[in-house]
Amino acid sequence: MSELKNLMISVSGVRGIVGDGLTPEVALQFALAYGTHFGPGRIVVGRDSRVTGDLIKYAVWSGLMATGCDVVDVGLTTTPTTALATERAENHGGIIITASHNPREWNALKLLAPDGLFLSPEAGARILERVKQQDFRYAAWDRIGRVIPYSSAPAEHLAAITALPLLDIEKIRKRRFKVVVDPCNGAGGTILPDLFELLGAEVIWINREPHGRFPRSPEPLAANLGELSAAVVAHGADLGVAVDPDVDRLALVSEQGQPLGEEYTLALATELVLTHTPGAVVVNASTSRAIEEIAARHGSKVHYTPVGEIHVATRAREIKAIMAGEGNGGVIYPGLRLGRDAVVGTALVLQLLVERGQPVSVVQAGLPQYVMVKDKITLPFGADARGMVDRLLRQQVGGNVDLTDGLKFLYDRAWVHIRASNTEPIIRVIAEAPTAAEAEERVQALKAEFVKLQD
Ligand code: MG
Repeated sequence: MSELKNLMISVSGVRGIVGDGLTPEVALQFALAYGTHFGPGRIVVGRDSRVTGDLIKYAVWSGLMATGCDVVDVGLTTTPTTALATERAENHGGIIITASHNPREWNALKLLAPDGLFLSPEAGARILERVKQQDFRYAAWDRIGRVIPYSSAPAEHLAAITALPLLDIEKIRKRRFKVVVDPCNGAGGTILPDLFELLGAEVIWINREPHGRFPRSPEPLAANLGELSAAVVAHGADLGVAVDPDVDRLALVSEQGQPLGEEYTLALATELVLTHTPGAVVVNASTSRAIEEIAARHGSKVHYTPVGEIHVATRAREIKAIMAGEGNGGVIYPGLRLGRDAVVGTALVLQLLVERGQPVSVVQAGLPQYVMVKDKITLPFGADARGMVDRLLRQQVGGNVDLTDGLKFLYDRAWVHIRASNTEPIIRVIAEAPTAAEAEERVQALKAEFVKLQD
């Protein structure tokens, strides 16, 4: 077997730089393991717009077909679109070829369970064990799978969104929103044009073509949205919309050209949902306190999980949450499905703006105000990030500490959180406070303590 090196392997799949870690052989082996584990059956395969998408796709197809699985080819599309297709009763699993917000030289397999959620840690571990043991079940020549083209997944996704009782599509259409949209040449360019057409919006596009040669860092952080901000002002638009390459994260820019910060995407969507239907909210431990305060205003309660979409989605399903998500622009609306979805997130935000009849900057200003500072400590591939955080944990436990995921120190109106990333060889240090200065100070203080401890 080809070596598993220079790869980030997690419960949600395998990521690497194509040509240096992520090779067709690696993709083939994971597909063989996946097909052996869940097959034989129909497996949905989608890809984002990356230049290496076809290269990885054919290796995945080959692995699935070799284990007797049929490939349901949904083509170049988004993660939520592929996941929604996976949920259809006739399908038995799904694989999305995308490195999400990682730079353009990366690619990855995101592995879905038959229910359309990401793999549980247990299922992920079993797939990885099959790869390591080369434990594959090959089908006989006359039992191999075939490729089934399936082009209606995006239309089904949009139909499910426009059918949501929470949305008043006619009212949104009448408002004739003017929106600047930047999908960063990712898969958003395939579905967002139809979404905005349905919502009657006038759209000015930036980086629309889904060709995968991302012109900037594709993570929709405020620092990467300069072109979008300028365009919103230049065109006098109501809103700027940015999504990551596989369209599960959404970031907004106000009509004044101000990036609202990813945390406020979930805050705005949660404000809408709880206004209509108070109920439990599930978010990860790194999500803004603003959600907690919004929920309290609506008499609702927030439940916290470790970082990682599967943790949030599983808990949301268990407690029948009315709203869920991750603060990094990952809106999960359980009324549609239990996964992050920037397409439904966009529709929810437009609905809120229609209902309030105010500019987005005013609506946002009415929400609890917090500033989050995100920092990281970069480690070499293979470093034991979790062990390093655990060492800090052993020293620090006591006081007001939350151990949902890594260590989160809680203060009156602030917190600082340190944890090992699931997807990259880094340790994340994130703080939130009423002011940027306080948040920055808390990040730097904790980083200093962490570094001291590792020496
Ligand atoms: Mg993504």
